Amino acid sequence: MATYFHFLKDDAYIEEHLSEEEINAVKKWQNPKVDYEFSFHTQHEAGWPLYIIEPGQRGKRNRPKINLKVPTYEILEGKNLNNVAVGKDAKDVARNNIGVLQQLAEEYYEPKDEEVEEPVQLVAKVAVWKCKSAQCKGRVITQTVDENEAGQLQADNDAYMQTWIKELPKCKRCKKVNWEFTEVRNLGIAEEADLSAGQEVKQI
Ligand SMILES: [Zn+2]
Repeated sequence: MATYFHFLKDDAYIEEHLSEEEINAVKKWQNPKVDYEFSFHTQHEAGWPLYIIEPGQRGKRNRPKINLKVPTYEILEGKNLNNVAVGKDAKDVARNNIGVLQQLAEEYYEPKDEEVEEPVQLVAKVAVWKCKSAQCKGRVITQTVDENEAGQLQADNDAYMQTWIKELPKCKRCKKVNWEFTEVRNLGIAEEADLSAGQEVKQI
């Protein structure tokens, strides 16, 4: 796959690959009055060739090029250049912008692998419910909750709380659903699978 661009401030490729700072630092853009494009393409020999593509020459073999990896600013295959002004302008562009051009070339020819994201280590959360019945003396149950539910429970929303409590099992001791929310407790590092809400209710 080849990429074609004009080394001009408002070129889409330039805008995409250079930062605003880098664009503002450019002192010599290609001369818009001289009609040609630059190109990188992957079917190439060694080095980081910056191809010079004159009108109608896209996809043609042996295009003139400048090696950006070891810059001598010499135009290789220069005999295939139709317009001398193109060669001169392209050389000027290369000389004046070797840093950003090398950056573009390296990005193109030697792309780095996408960074692999570290798996997020999640902390399992459990909601702790305390039985309010006198004979139970603060007997508790715990229940796995996800981030969202933990937040909801901690938000002190009474309606939400009452609905939740209705879903809880009866206390094994007093046989009532008389739970009171106390806290959400972090259980340390866990697999995400363990965080599915309401997974278990443990009576302690
Ligand atoms: Zn109870």
